[in-house]
Amino acid sequence: MNIKVRQFLQNSINNLSSGYLLYSRFQEDAEKTADEFAQMIFCDTHDNCGKCNSCRKFQDNNMISYFSVSPDEKDLIKIDAVRQIQDYLNTQAKDHEYRCIHIKGANKLTVQSQNYLLKTLEEPPRNVVFILSVDNKDMILETVRSRLIEVNIPPSSRKEIIERMTEQGYGYEDALLGASWGRGSYENALKTVDDSRLKEIRDLAEKILMRLATKRNPSMFLLMQDFSEAGEDLSELLYAMDSLLLDSVIYPEEAEKLDNPDKTDCLASLKAGFTLKKLEGIIEVVNERIEQRMNFPQFRQDLMIENMIFDILEVIA
Ligand SMILES: [Zn+2]
Repeated sequence: MNIKVRQFLQNSINNLSSGYLLYSRFQEDAEKTADEFAQMIFCDTHDNCGKCNSCRKFQDNNMISYFSVSPDEKDLIKIDAVRQIQDYLNTQAKDHEYRCIHIKGANKLTVQSQNYLLKTLEEPPRNVVFILSVDNKDMILETVRSRLIEVNIPPSSRKEIIERMTEQGYGYEDALLGASWGRGSYENALKTVDDSRLKEIRDLAEKILMRLATKRNPSMFLLMQDFSEAGEDLSELLYAMDSLLLDSVIYPEEAEKLDNPDKTDCLASLKAGFTLKKLEGIIEVVNERIEQRMNFPQFRQDLMIENMIFDILEVIA
């Protein structure tokens, strides 16, 4: 958990409010923080010791005092789900002084569900804490929000991700990779470590850049083929290319800052093959396409790739 968020939540345990709205750009980071907060409330030390009875139960998903709901298959939280919360609260089921209700992806609550929930929030049962985790708090009604304490979970910096991952026992190389792929999300960073597809995509990015750097007249046809190998992971491929290109600009002078310390052959080839101005030109083209993919996801991929290759070849001609 982000250190400042942790401090804030830990302090608030002494004087718990009945509702919290935890928001992040990344749903998974918001959810993870919400669960860690719930565990903190239950933990004997309020520090997620991992050893006390509550921590063990929580980690084994056996905590009776914890209840969570998530969006359904249509990506909505309908009123039935909120009624289930009420049913749970109506029972005496609990194994702690407090009970925590975690509404995951609470921005998927329908308006009807939110109004139903509001009634509970207006007269909160004793010793019940509602934790709503969202990646977009604008979808939460003002009336609901006014009942909740809002906590912003800021994106994690590269440095934070590396520090936290190494603290958790990950190797430094894995932490570096996590930091460059996580793009601000600690949970994303963790996922990349075991993701073999991302490793393939990085290798593909390397192959394309090596082709550009070492061939006098890189073949349009072969480049098209390389790019289409990425399939649905084209954005990831572009990020990987961007990351390698940025590294090549600072290589070898600032080797300690590299995101891709395992790809120095590629970095050296880029450095040898292009002037700084050309490297920056390619970076610009790649970044334009990353933005285009975000803003116009419906744009035809084959056309986009073709245009991008033309632009890159023009830059390096
Ligand atoms: Zn504990």
